[in-house]
Amino acid sequence: MHEPAVKKTLYWCEHCNIPLIGRTCSCGNEAKTIPLLQPYDLRPALSADRDHIIQLLTSQYGDVPVPKVILLNKTGGYDRAELIIMNGQRFGWFTFDPVTKTYSLDITPEALPFLVPHITKGIIDLTTHIDLKAEKGRIGGKRFPLKEPIPDGSVIVTANGKFGTAIVKEGFIKVRELLPITPSTYPDPDWEEVIAHNTYHLKNLERSAVRTIKSHMKDRPTVNVSFSGGKDSTAVLHLARKAGVEKAFFIDTGLEFPETIRFIEEQGVEIIRKGGDFWQAVEKAGPPGKDNRWCCKLLKLHPLKIYLADTGPCVTIQGNRWYESWNRAGLDETSQNPANPLQLNISPIRSWRACEVFLYLWWRKIPINPLYDQGIERIGCYLCPAMLESEYDVIRKTHPDFTQRWDAFLQRWAEKKQMPDAYADWGLWRWRALPPKMRELCRNMGVLVNDDFTLAPTKERKKKQQTQPVSPIRQEKAEISPDQADIFQTIRHDYPILGDVIYLDNAATSCSPEPVIEAMVEYEHRYRSNVGRGVHRFTRIATQRYWHAHEKVAEFIGAHHGITVFTKNTTEAINMVAHGLSWNPGDRIVTTILEHHSNLLPWRALTSQGVHIEIIGILPDYSLDMNAFRKALEKPVKLVAVTHVSNVLGVITPVHEIAALCREKGALLLIDGAQAVPHMPVCLADIECDFYCFSGHKLGGPTGTGVLWMKEPVLIPLIKGGGMVESVTGDSITYAPGYEQYEGGTPNIAGGIGLGVAVDYLRKIGMDRIYEHEKELTTYLIEGLQNIDRVRIYAPGDPETRIGVVSFTVDGMHPHEVAERLDEHDILVRSGTHCCQPLMHALNLPDGTVRVSIAQYNTKTEIDLFLATLQEIVSGISHRNPIRS
Ligand code: PMP
Repeated sequence: MHEPAVKKTLYWCEHCNIPLIGRTCSCGNEAKTIPLLQPYDLRPALSADRDHIIQLLTSQYGDVPVPKVILLNKTGGYDRAELIIMNGQRFGWFTFDPVTKTYSLDITPEALPFLVPHITKGIIDLTTHIDLKAEKGRIGGKRFPLKEPIPDGSVIVTANGKFGTAIVKEGFIKVRELLPITPSTYPDPDWEEVIAHNTYHLKNLERSAVRTIKSHMKDRPTVNVSFSGGKDSTAVLHLARKAGVEKAFFIDTGLEFPETIRFIEEQGVEIIRKGGDFWQAVEKAGPPGKDNRWCCKLLKLHPLKIYLADTGPCVTIQGNRWYESWNRAGLDETSQNPANPLQLNISPIRSWRACEVFLYLWWRKIPINPLYDQGIERIGCYLCPAMLESEYDVIRKTHPDFTQRWDAFLQRWAEKKQMPDAYADWGLWRWRALPPKMRELCRNMGVLVNDDFTLAPTKERKKKQQTQPVSPIRQEKAEISPDQADIFQTIRHDYPILGDVIYLDNAATSCSPEPVIEAMVEYEHRYRSNVGRGVHRFTRIATQRYWHAHEKVAEFIGAHHGITVFTKNTTEAINMVAHGLSWNPGDRIVTTILEHHSNLLPWRALTSQGVHIEIIGILPDYSLDMNAFRKALEKPVKLVAVTHVSNVLGVITPVHEIAALCREKGALLLIDGAQAVPHMPVCLADIECDFYCFSGHKLGGPTGTGVLWMKEPVLIPLIKGGGMVESVTGDSITYAPGYEQYEGGTPNIAGGIGLGVAVDYLRKIGMDRIYEHEKELTTYLIEGLQNIDRVRIYAPGDPETRIGVVSFTVDGMHPHEVAERLDEHDILVRSGTHCCQPLMHALNLPDGTVRVSIAQYNTKTEIDLFLATLQEIVSGISHRNPIRS
């Protein structure tokens, strides 16, 4: 269908003094046309705009009458710039200066017949203010020096019975044109009369929009309305309901005005609760921009994806219009949502201008969002970059709590990036690359812009009050009450890295919270030195903190006795045990099929010394075959090496029972706690093993950190050298008594100190609480996976015997392909054999699995998004490569 062209003019009945949608007025007269300006989106001046215009007119020209019907045509400028249309004339310009935060009104000569009879000030008699004697010919278009100074701005001028407009600047006056004026009077209709004269056209608009909706309602199995709380979607909601559409949804970004939420509730529209956390994401991504709308993806598209995963393919009626912006001007009746294949968008009012939308709403007496009357014109998030600075300035007055928070962030960000004051003060944060108008403003004001049109950094900034959001975990003295349900939301502020991704690869390595990073940086900046050597102040601080980190870690794992040694990782810890014990041919080691290569290969290496290894299998529910275990321990066993939790299946092994068996049979017990310590309370005082190994980097500590705890210092130190001895004589060595003997050479000092902070951090949240949170998410995840076609899950059914490590496969897709596709959607998971090839062979999964692994900072929304995305990926392949037809 050929779409009608964008309307570039306004029809006006001069007889009734009324704007018209169509060319003819109900009075029978033919309308005149008034040319408009791009993007031609005409709208009524609502009460706040009207008050503004009246106030400016009164202060400039005295008490002049203003008609009830005023129209505004927004156009380009530094900020708000509107053509004012009154009495069928292009009356003047209404502009906002983002630098001074003031409005100005500049009238056109067409306004003079209407103004001149009433003005009491702001009129300059040129015959007295400039020297006209020397002037021959026309005055219009010329610039004259003023005899006496007049404040800069636009003025009305008169000379010899003629009138015109002029601009005063720095002691000069530039006259536009002087013309004879015939004072005019006009009828003063109100909006009711405008509606009455346009009812015929409004009916047509309504009929055609309803027809459009009806013609597409069945294009997909379901139909709904996307509601934003603004006027356009209010009109569309009403039209869609007329057409028989029942469902409507609104996505709450978490940055909504309370008035909008209340309004939406009153409309009986379903509210999709907040998806992503803007305040967390912005710490990494920085302010969103008109040319960098990352926020839409996080706050709108992600929740929409979750919603649509439930709804399935649908037709969504939306209120987008051609006139809203240049890039909407080509919008078709139907359009596929480029971000979501499930959604077909219908735009039934795309050809309406804002004026028609308001007239329609007023005609049908449909309530509109009360924010419009407060002077807020663009309903959306209160810090939307698409907003003008003038609108934001209104919000500063109407909703100061919101703007204070955002302004504080902008100041902090500007400081960090060394942005000039203009960045926050003039609203230049709204663009990554400044558009021509803003570059012009910067040039005029002496603000430097880079060649790529980004704002140039500066060292000269006014220091401003700044506040940084921190989670309660970071506030030293803060008590975290057990009922603080949203603690897992607030801690996300401590992980800026999570801002733009969904990180579900925590079993490989988890993210460090800011305090860990800060502690490491503090070491480097403030007291970097060696430990356990010398007496100077730096080494004393470093030694104390490094030692204290060991104490904190020991306490964290409930090790009231024994030695806690810092290692590089779990792998090193296990190797230290394998190499630190003495082995004889015929010694037996019992281990399990669940083990990570790190808890298998060190033992396998001992077979060259005649050591035998026995591997215990698992049952169909993925639990360890304890009968086989018991049986294996009937013969003498030197060491049992078992994982506390499988890094593939998430299954928790019965370590207490195994420990009891080992004690009974006199076997040493090594537990690989790499997947347990970060996710559940571990108390070594209760387990009674001989060695317990885990990684620091999987619990938010630095990479290159791990722990070997041992009940007794029975191992021969693997690394010999500096820092691990008490005394060395010609023929004897006395090793240091504590952990030092196992940490020969200079250790990873910053890492060790960071690890101490990481366990402090987890302890403050509470391992019980983390375990419960992750358990809930895991159950939710598994239930969600069960609903996706062609997905096979490898996880124990009983929530009590598993943690948040969930493996799955998708029939017909390689695990790496699934992970890669998820990565395209910013979801990071692990794929492959997870360093557990014997287990993979046992499960007959030579390509491995996709593994989702959860940490304390993951949220239910992230799981929803993961599930929705996986669903999309899976149905995508069924389309391309149908497995079941
Ligand atoms: N054991 C288990 C159960 C693991 O999950 C891992 C890491 N995936 C390791 C050992 C090895 O840890 P690291 O790489 O830190 O040595």
